[in-house]
Amino acid sequence: MARIPDDLIDSIRSQADIVDIVSDYVPLRKSGKNYLGLCPFHDEKTASFSVNPERQIFHCFGCGKGGNVFNFLMEHEHVSFVEAVRHIARRLNITIPDTYREREASSEAESLAQVTRFAARFFHERLLNSDQGSIVRRYTAKRGLSDETIKSFGLGYAPDSWNDLLNAARKQGIDGAWLVKAGLAKTGEQRTYDAFRKRLVFPIQAPGGRVVGFGGRALSDEDQPKYLNSPESPIYHKSQVLYGLYQARDVLRQQGRILVVEGYMDLLGLHQHGVHGAVAVCGTALSREQARLAARYGKQAFLVYDSDQAGVRATWRAIEPLVEAGLWTRIVRLPEGYDPDSYVAEHGPDGFLKRVEQADSIADFMGHHADLNEPGDREEVFRTLTDLIRKTTNLVHRERYREEAERRFPALQSLLASELRNPGAGRRDRRSPQAEDNRVRGEAPVERGLVQLMLNDRTIAELVERQLEPDDFRHPLYRRIVEHCFTKLGDGETYDFSGLVDTIDDEARRAITELINTADSGIQLEQRARDHVVRIKQKRLKESMTRLMEQIQQMEKGGRSSELTEAMATYMELKHQEKALLQSARGD
Ligand SMILES: [Zn+2]
Repeated sequence: MARIPDDLIDSIRSQADIVDIVSDYVPLRKSGKNYLGLCPFHDEKTASFSVNPERQIFHCFGCGKGGNVFNFLMEHEHVSFVEAVRHIARRLNITIPDTYREREASSEAESLAQVTRFAARFFHERLLNSDQGSIVRRYTAKRGLSDETIKSFGLGYAPDSWNDLLNAARKQGIDGAWLVKAGLAKTGEQRTYDAFRKRLVFPIQAPGGRVVGFGGRALSDEDQPKYLNSPESPIYHKSQVLYGLYQARDVLRQQGRILVVEGYMDLLGLHQHGVHGAVAVCGTALSREQARLAARYGKQAFLVYDSDQAGVRATWRAIEPLVEAGLWTRIVRLPEGYDPDSYVAEHGPDGFLKRVEQADSIADFMGHHADLNEPGDREEVFRTLTDLIRKTTNLVHRERYREEAERRFPALQSLLASELRNPGAGRRDRRSPQAEDNRVRGEAPVERGLVQLMLNDRTIAELVERQLEPDDFRHPLYRRIVEHCFTKLGDGETYDFSGLVDTIDDEARRAITELINTADSGIQLEQRARDHVVRIKQKRLKESMTRLMEQIQQMEKGGRSSELTEAMATYMELKHQEKALLQSARGD
């Protein structure tokens, strides 16, 4: 099936007016902000089909159908997504250019790939052969990068110039606009200019080897930023690419062990010293997609991040996606002040691999970086570990993670054990599924209210993202929508709801359109959102306390006094957190 480029689809969607299009099929009349009509999807006598021009979506309060302009046509005319897009393009007199048509369905991606390939060669050539390139050759020599490394990773030099790349591209018949689209040039008020200047350039390759983007490192401390990365483009999606994976593929498949490092230079440093099988996340937190990609090539992941605070934080966050992707996960701890590059340079490959062999378990890592005498920290470690173990789909790993956690934290042993004895027990508290359903439903109004506010206002969505995790939402539908919203926020994409509903399942789409269309124009939206957040947080705390109290009662029966003291302290801490939460909510 022909593929129409995403940006063209976005452009068609943003130019289409849903009221116009729907009016071709359904007589609509204005009612407040919205338009109302008889639903074309179910039989009705009074109008419950509503079209929201501001959000560019429709929703039927009778049958629940909803969506954007494309969904309307697909549903009404029984056509595919592509046909719906084409239909609207025709109606708007937007030409889907010939190059985009069937035969060259992915022509934009193809053209972009040609542009990035050209640029990669240009940069590489400049590094190897130009006079100017001597400055970067001095730098790579200082960092100890061999010709072999420079060649296998296609490293390059972006000259100290505003238009060297643009000019070279023009000579090859490549228009500047393509460089802009690929993130290699920028358009200012007066002119278009090269985006990468006076930098060591790292071409970023998709797993198949195609260059999709670039990273650039400044050659002196005065030049900022230190690292520059291509923006997302139709071929470059940061969360879906791992730097160095292409070069590491064969080794990874053989050894099954993936070293995950933070930066380009870490990876090159390791390669340089004969430590292969590393991949780097560059300038992003490790995403679920990246973890799943890694899991296609190996079974074990070793996180080797910087030993500084930022590195530890990033490690903490990278564990969950790896575990969820089914990778047996270990953390390599480097001494204070080291990163993988500097460590391997000083201690050689054997020294480095020794560290890998001695890697920490997740429980060890957490124990090392949390103060277990602090009730807050202890609760955090306990919650994170139980969550993690529960999310581990690989049953062998699950058992081993649990054993390690219990060995590392004897004080938490019985808590962990009772929490994990039956899958999902922690959340359900041994209640019946029916009771659980009712509980979820009971909480749903608050969650629903908050999701509705998030959908209507980006600021609120950001506020919620800072305060809650998707898992804090118990209702699976709302959790899915929240996850989706967070992803959209994280992508830096425009928070646009007719766009949001393109890429989500039917049930969620209906819910979203309904929520948007039933939102009151309301006052004090932000205050209401804050209230909802507090209520949800309080619920979660109360759950933890109830769970803990049940365990405390069991411990009392069993006369396990040392554990009891621990558990009581944790309980008091939760109580304290709840109090603090309510105080802050009142603005005390
Ligand atoms: Zn209907």
